[in-house]
Amino acid sequence: MKVLVPVKRVVDFNVKVRVKSDGTGVDIANVKMSMNPFDEIAVEEAVRLKEKGVVTEIIAVSCGEAKCQETLRTAMAIGADRGILVETTEELQPLAVAKLLKALVDKEQPSLVILGKQAIDDDANQTGQMLAALADLPQATFASKVEIAGDKATVTREVDGGLETIALSLPAVITTDLRLNEPRYVTLPNIMKAKKKQLDTVSPADLGVDVAPRLKTLKVSEPPKRGAGIKVPDVATLVDKLKNEAKVI
Ligand code: AMP
Repeated sequence: MKVLVPVKRVVDFNVKVRVKSDGTGVDIANVKMSMNPFDEIAVEEAVRLKEKGVVTEIIAVSCGEAKCQETLRTAMAIGADRGILVETTEELQPLAVAKLLKALVDKEQPSLVILGKQAIDDDANQTGQMLAALADLPQATFASKVEIAGDKATVTREVDGGLETIALSLPAVITTDLRLNEPRYVTLPNIMKAKKKQLDTVSPADLGVDVAPRLKTLKVSEPPKRGAGIKVPDVATLVDKLKNEAKVI
């Protein structure tokens, strides 16, 4: 059973992002980039399924600049068997990525596509859902537990006030939530091994996909600065201020 795992190169989650002074986007020059954390969870889940003997091949895919090769090497160091880079310098929006992935699903015929639930840079939370629609596959989003038996998957999802368990038949699309697993540390020997794994590069044109953006970002701005706090002498003043100034009680 083949699994396709799309991995996105994003600004590292520890970096405090800065908005460009002209408001056109976020400054990513000289900023540490890493694999989207939800995608690490997706790779880890695929590797665990392989370790259980359910999965035979894991293919990591990244769409973007040549530097996404680093992200693919990380995926291969976690345990993916090979990588595909869909190389382009164009800005890629979720619909374009979903179309590229759909073309790869047609080509590779995986039984499962495991994506992150969202990329932490644009917070779109759209690609998995769009891919499922374009490829006409069942989808289970925000998975916190995945079980595969034969050609069926049982997925537990975290929903408001509890857990929902759904059954779907393979092939299917699953997106990962934070509590699905804790990704393993990448070891040096595995980083070295990953360097020798197969990494193919294709272009959107090779896949017959037009990736032209459909949406235009009008403006990106910083959240408003928080005002300085004050110290109050006693509880009575605090209650008075909460009631009459902040009007929150
Ligand atoms: P988004 O819909 O942008 O929040 O992204 C959801 C998921 O889609 C991510 O966690 C990745 O698994 C996948 N994805 C999005 N963009 C890319 C990309 N450029 N390359 C590979 N995978 C991507």
